[in-house]
Amino acid sequence: MHHRLAVVVQTPAHSGLSGPLTYQSPEALPPGTLVRVPLGKRETLGVVWPVAEQDLDTEGVTERPVAGVLAGLPPLGPAWMRLVSFASRYYQRSLGEVALASLPPQLRELGPEQLARRLKRPQAAAPDPATPTPAGLALTAEQAEVCAQLEQHPGPFLLFGATGSGKTEVYLHAVQALLERDPSAQALIMVPEINLTPQLEERFQARFAPRWGVQAVVSMHSGMTPAQRLKSWLAAHSGQARMVLGTRMSIFASMPGLQLIIVDEEHDPSYKQQEGARYSARDLAVYRGQQEGAKVLLGSATPSLESWHHSRPSAEGGRYQRLLMPTRVGAAADAGLPRVRRVDMNRQSKGTVFSPQLVSAMQERVARGEQVMVFLNRRGYAPVLHCNDCGWKSECPHCSAFRVFHRIDRTLRCHHCGFTQAVPRACPDCGNLDIAPLGRGTERLEEQLAELMSETLRPDGQPARIARIDADSTRAKGALESQLAQVHGGEVDVLVGTQMIAKGHDFRRVTLVAAINPDGALFSSDFRAPERLFALLMQAAGRAGRDAAFVSAQKSEGEMWVQTFYPTHPLFEALKTHDYPAFAQAQLEEREQAGMPPFSFQALVRAEARTQAVAQGFLNSASAAGAELEGASQVFRFSAVPMTIQRVANIERAQMLIESPSRAALQRFLAQWQAVLHATRAAPEHKGLIRWAVDVDPLLI
Ligand code: ADP
Ligand code: ZN
Ligand code: ZN
Repeated sequence: MHHRLAVVVQTPAHSGLSGPLTYQSPEALPPGTLVRVPLGKRETLGVVWPVAEQDLDTEGVTERPVAGVLAGLPPLGPAWMRLVSFASRYYQRSLGEVALASLPPQLRELGPEQLARRLKRPQAAAPDPATPTPAGLALTAEQAEVCAQLEQHPGPFLLFGATGSGKTEVYLHAVQALLERDPSAQALIMVPEINLTPQLEERFQARFAPRWGVQAVVSMHSGMTPAQRLKSWLAAHSGQARMVLGTRMSIFASMPGLQLIIVDEEHDPSYKQQEGARYSARDLAVYRGQQEGAKVLLGSATPSLESWHHSRPSAEGGRYQRLLMPTRVGAAADAGLPRVRRVDMNRQSKGTVFSPQLVSAMQERVARGEQVMVFLNRRGYAPVLHCNDCGWKSECPHCSAFRVFHRIDRTLRCHHCGFTQAVPRACPDCGNLDIAPLGRGTERLEEQLAELMSETLRPDGQPARIARIDADSTRAKGALESQLAQVHGGEVDVLVGTQMIAKGHDFRRVTLVAAINPDGALFSSDFRAPERLFALLMQAAGRAGRDAAFVSAQKSEGEMWVQTFYPTHPLFEALKTHDYPAFAQAQLEEREQAGMPPFSFQALVRAEARTQAVAQGFLNSASAAGAELEGASQVFRFSAVPMTIQRVANIERAQMLIESPSRAALQRFLAQWQAVLHATRAAPEHKGLIRWAVDVDPLLI
């Protein structure tokens, strides 16, 4: 007798197949079992899905037999399958894509024998069990109060804690309390960036390895080798790992004992996946916590406006519990928050890059042996190369964007498609030899700073040293680590960089941080740009004057300088007083008036085609064809428009915003609209269409 099984496999994105396929098996296999099944001419990994036999989709399908079972691997749990189903439905991608993408690649690629060998590897011995956990720091009153709240309430929680207020210490404490209470409990701790995982892992290992062994803490992020990822995944799946530290992908880790999920820097846009299934790991954490009865703790010094709104008082409809830690602790305790100084660039002579006040402040600091950090969110030497005679500019022939001038290797590089050429000797249009850079990036700032600092000596009599950290300077493996080590080691006096240097790093000797030109975000077409800028500037400010002992020994003061043409802009006013709540309230009022998130819900459909007309035509006809769908009256569909960077690598890109005051209505509409989009794609007039994708709760508009 043969059993019929529903198996979820990865089907091609536009095949239109989204549900499980039906296979036969001589034995009954429980849901969650990993199997290898034939698909077309190949064999692929699949997951047995909980579908009742009478509901199996069998019409016109010849059922093929399961090729093999991944023996020795316990089935994936029902909670994991619910998470995957939810993410697939909510983010409008096929079940197979979401399910298979969340398993480690080696599980998908290895043959059954290779895998069996790996599973059989002896597991590391458990540690000598009597060792107690090393005592953590004595909690401050604020930390203790937060930990008590975490014990007493179900959550979800939003921990609003200043930079340096000791949030990580709270995480460690909460995890420890859980592990000691329940011998099979597991905790998931997420950070936004791969760069931040080693630092966090070190802190967790130092605290937990003596008691639970080094194998109790595993990391999960895309920078690991496939073998490492498999190992971590298996450790989490088997329950051997008690703590998983990871980036957004780790939200899909199989963790049968999951009881606590921590999302550090919850406001960070990196939690949103920007391709394939465009999920928000932060939002899925809240869903997963609810499903599995795990507590969820979101932490930030500048929470996302969504989380801030959700944590308003429950009498006003708030669903999250807001916890506060306003005070800096430890080395930063007495330093307080840095003073914010605004430089009005309207009063500077035209073309000024560094105001004279800032220059002398930087020189003084360096002369005293302190470090300075300078931010500019634009890498390269200059964003455009330009001919003064005929007006030629270094446009990318393949994109609607300029190629950036990189002086270091004298190239023009397109940051969108990668097209790179040597800088021409003369203007390609008129032959003028005098072509010049317009505007500036980090490379040019570095050069300019070297000039400004050329007369400045450090206390040891050596000339000031300038360094740059951005995506270009850190391309080589290990480059970022060694550059950061130089900064920590005091070998660098002035550090120039992009937002890469703003996040998380605990530089003890930095006392002055400067944002050179942050104004662009104030008037961006993306309504979230001010929110991102505020978070970035607060983070950056958090780098200045972290070590109170150093600052007072130096008789110095932590300062954040902002050069701006809009010094009285409310964003900078709020920054000056470190007043996130005031900033958030002003933003939320604006958003409410304009009916924008979190007071409405959005999805963005993007289409790519050979011509802009085809891309927009596809979106507009799909929109028209969706007019009669259930819920359509509650969903507002804007007209298709070109994307901000309209052409990349010779492909035209358009987008359509869809908005609704009701999340449920938007979801109902999107669920039915999928089929319409697929059908519209097939129409002959949309032949030049290359692809389309839906982004639910988009972050970048
Ligand atoms: P956050 O994550 O909020 O930025 P951390 O947890 O990293 O803050 O703490 C900042 C610094 O303060 C760290 O050096 C940490 O060791 C120290 N610290 C945290 N809590 C305490 C405490 N209760 N007593 C003394 N030092 C503390
Ligand atoms: Zn010219
Ligand atoms: Zn290009």
